[in-house]
Amino acid sequence: MQNCKFFMEHMRVTQGYGRYSNGNVDYTSYSHTGSYALDFGGKDLGKDWAYAPCDVKVVRIYGVYNAVWFESLDQVMCADGKARKLVFMLLHIDDADMKALGIQVGRIFRQGEKFYREGSAGAVGNHIHMEVGAAPFTPTGWQKTNIKDRTNAYVWKINSQLKPHEVFIIPKDTVVMNDGGYDWFREDERDEEIRLLRQENTDLRQQLQHYTAIVEKIGSILDTL
Ligand SMILES: [Zn+2]
Repeated sequence: MQNCKFFMEHMRVTQGYGRYSNGNVDYTSYSHTGSYALDFGGKDLGKDWAYAPCDVKVVRIYGVYNAVWFESLDQVMCADGKARKLVFMLLHIDDADMKALGIQVGRIFRQGEKFYREGSAGAVGNHIHMEVGAAPFTPTGWQKTNIKDRTNAYVWKINSQLKPHEVFIIPKDTVVMNDGGYDWFREDERDEEIRLLRQENTDLRQQLQHYTAIVEKIGSILDTL
């Protein structure tokens, strides 16, 4: 089973969730009010590539902001330890890059393949707006909420929305510039776990050697009595 990998080389959150950690709506949010959407700005003001987090298929394209819904082909392992089929929704790629990547309904992208790019279609400044939800994909892929953002417009969000930090596993080589303050699961934490287990194993071995030496010593003392 594939891990659901974070999809950019640099993680730089430029707008976080529109909810507080206790679930309450954050009405100070710029445009993510009530949603677990994230904006990613890449390493700088340019247009960084995004790489498929797992094997995915394009299931819908919509709007002036070039919203693209990608559904995972299979279940994938998420950061919270649960396996799920997922739907990803990304916004703002420019038209030329859509064309260059051959994004069209039915197109399959394999894990790690370039599948999207920062852009400014329907937005100000290059970035990717990203949401993730549990499959199955439904005909429109998203829904209008009854919550308004600061511009007094109703916020839309992906169906069966999940919190990205509970879904994406951050690969070791990802440069984390701004994690938005969320408790992301990093791939190297698994290595840390292995390192600790090894250390524990070494400690136990040393203790065993120590006690074996004592038992031997007692044995030889008993022999002399
Ligand atoms: Zn956004």
